[in-house]
Amino acid sequence: MKLFNTLTRQKEEFVPITPGEIKMYSCGPTVYNFFHVGNARPFIVFDVLRRYFEYRGYKVNFVQNFTDIDDKVINKANDEGVDFNVIADRYIKEYYTDAAGLGVNKATCHPRATETMDAIIGIVETLLENGHAYLAENGDVYFRTKSFPEYGKLSHQPLEDLQAGARIGVGELKEDPMDFAVWKAAKPGEPAWDTPWGSKGRPGWHIECSAMVNKYLGKTIDIHSGGLDLTFPHHENEIAQSECANGCTFANYWLHNGFLTIDNEKMSKSKGNFFMVRDAAKMFGYETIRMFMLSAHYRTPLNYSEDSLNMNKVSLARLYEARNNLEFRIEKAAGDAMTAEETAKLTELSAYKQKFIDAMDDDLNTADAMSAIFELTREINAYSGAHQDATKAFLQAAHALFMELTGVLNIVQQREDAAADPDAEKIEGLIADRAAAKKNKDFAAADRIRDELLAMGVTIKDTRQGTQWTRG
Ligand code: AMP
Ligand code: ZN
Repeated sequence: MKLFNTLTRQKEEFVPITPGEIKMYSCGPTVYNFFHVGNARPFIVFDVLRRYFEYRGYKVNFVQNFTDIDDKVINKANDEGVDFNVIADRYIKEYYTDAAGLGVNKATCHPRATETMDAIIGIVETLLENGHAYLAENGDVYFRTKSFPEYGKLSHQPLEDLQAGARIGVGELKEDPMDFAVWKAAKPGEPAWDTPWGSKGRPGWHIECSAMVNKYLGKTIDIHSGGLDLTFPHHENEIAQSECANGCTFANYWLHNGFLTIDNEKMSKSKGNFFMVRDAAKMFGYETIRMFMLSAHYRTPLNYSEDSLNMNKVSLARLYEARNNLEFRIEKAAGDAMTAEETAKLTELSAYKQKFIDAMDDDLNTADAMSAIFELTREINAYSGAHQDATKAFLQAAHALFMELTGVLNIVQQREDAAADPDAEKIEGLIADRAAAKKNKDFAAADRIRDELLAMGVTIKDTRQGTQWTRG
């Protein structure tokens, strides 16, 4: 598999540190609000990366953090007059609700910054001891950026350029404008933790990721990922801290997703041009949002628009219809062995699986992988439509292939169909009555029953194998 590595700006062959195993870390949300559709992009694409690795037989250890202590969380807590933990707990719970809706699996582990304080304090201590960080008079601890000559290697910026752009903020006591806080001295009324170096306080943002990687994955990991905006300074700082504390490479591959835009501007909380995932889901459905995200390659910009979401909604419905048709046919069909023609057809269909794998192996090209699924679907629909006597064996094999590929992307897996409908028994009864009426040539009765079904919001379709019904 090839992955584009921000560090080398090239697509590279992916080779894990330990054969068959992957250590992967992704920067997670700051939990002071619901997350918006832009935030959802990394959650979805790196969930797919993880699922794809698992599909290819790797054991994946995937860690994604919750930033549960920072200015935004504290400000929100102050606004509501509650403890910061109340805010963090609430929005972690909401994160899980939206993530589950979007089909994003829980990571192997979701550490919170405040639960990783031992490791955070440990790494700051190491940096203080080896001279890569210093304790300022006000109790802040800063990373000494110039002590790491490779600083800038991820964002490909020479030190001089970074120096020209750096400023010292109000209240900061840095030796150099490029230095950044790894520890912030306590301010009155803010939550604070004790430290061996004597200044009570809380961690800077970047240090939690360095500490969590150490604690849960080890000194060197395979893949570190996040949104493009995190490249600088967040990831650059993570590299500096970790490599200076551990004396070895921090992450071998750096993956960054492109921006989700709206009117071609980055969707962001600060600009106010965002849709909460929750609200977008009310309009289009969670799974449509997932489908939309995967319709583009993860590194390209992707523009959010009602048209685009509606198009994806229709595409998704087409895939569900294909699946439901196959399942209906399987139930009615007979034949445990495929005919020679069907065996040949199945071999032909398997080519789409290879196409899917080739696309995913090419830097996780979900857009091309999705095309392979649509081509497969078209072929299955055409063949099964033209062969009403297709064997159960063939239909099952086609269904399995379809479910395997859509399963990797985690789309079209939901089951809110017939069997789950509370009126299923009644509907099936009416359909049987209608069939009997038709058989007796009592067409007026048959039509009456059809109208009754329509009034219940049930759509029926007569096929050679019997009557299929759906809601809506
Ligand atoms: P935050 O909670 O702001 O730290 O963001 C969580 C994740 O969402 C990070 O990986 C960000 O890089 C990512 N992110 C934020 N806005 C966008 C956007 N408009 N498009 C893509 N990713 C984004
Ligand atoms: Zn991070």
